[in-house]
Amino acid sequence: MNHGTRYLRLGVFPALLLLLSACQTQPVRQEKPQACEPAQQPVRPVAQQPVQPEAHNNLHAVLWMQTAAEYRALARQAYRSASLNLDRALANRRWTAALEQTDEYENLPPAVILDVDETVLDNSRYQAWLIQKGKRFSRVSWDWWISTGKARAVPGALDFIRAAQKKGVKVFLVSNRECRKRKGRAESCPQKQDIVHNLARLGFKDFPARQILLKGERKDWGSEKKDRRFLLSVRYRILMLFGDDLSDFIPGVRKLSWQKRAELVEKYRSRWGERWYVLPNPSYGSWQRVLGKPSKKQLRGF
Ligand SMILES: [Mg+2]
Repeated sequence: MNHGTRYLRLGVFPALLLLLSACQTQPVRQEKPQACEPAQQPVRPVAQQPVQPEAHNNLHAVLWMQTAAEYRALARQAYRSASLNLDRALANRRWTAALEQTDEYENLPPAVILDVDETVLDNSRYQAWLIQKGKRFSRVSWDWWISTGKARAVPGALDFIRAAQKKGVKVFLVSNRECRKRKGRAESCPQKQDIVHNLARLGFKDFPARQILLKGERKDWGSEKKDRRFLLSVRYRILMLFGDDLSDFIPGVRKLSWQKRAELVEKYRSRWGERWYVLPNPSYGSWQRVLGKPSKKQLRGF
């Protein structure tokens, strides 16, 4: 018996025909084929419904960062606004961006603090690689990625750094890339040189390694950046802060609920776009970690 006859006998073809005719009732403007739903499924009470595993939701976030003109425009917008505000910040001795800086800073030399990942360096190729390979973030693959020094620049970042340096403003990079020894290398923090090399590949020669402060470089330097900002604010007047995460600006927010974080954005509303510049990053961040699981429960419909 050939396969066609067997399928006919088993009733597979009639079933397929039925399915196809049902599909034709779907709206015509579907971009992708959609699975056809059975006509009338009995509705189970919410409590009995199986919990769906969370989908890998980084695809569109990473595509947006890699292809959307709007992403580039937002990054440019942040850095250009900052450049336009630099002279005002320099002229006003009472001007400081750091919450950690409260007194006796008026005569200190000026500085700005920038986060690194998704603020100065664009790691979307690493994120894209994870999606392509069906992998999750791991310290090992991340450390391998940063050792390649192949991150691109976030649009506008290097122009701003050059403009600030030209005006005599010291530029510090405060990052949560972690200092960790690597096999076969003597340095305690090769990750610092990775940033220097990466910037050099982007045409930014000789960025001083001493102006880069990484997580774990000192015992008390954890993910919270407040201590590093405080240390810099003892010696410099901090004109501006740049980052893609709320913790790049405000201390103690990494575990706060999203509602509390939103309140803090409002509390400090006069700082955004003047002393604080946030870069778009829908791909990852502390915003995501506070959602809980399943994250879908945080959706607000109407
Ligand atoms: Mg970052």
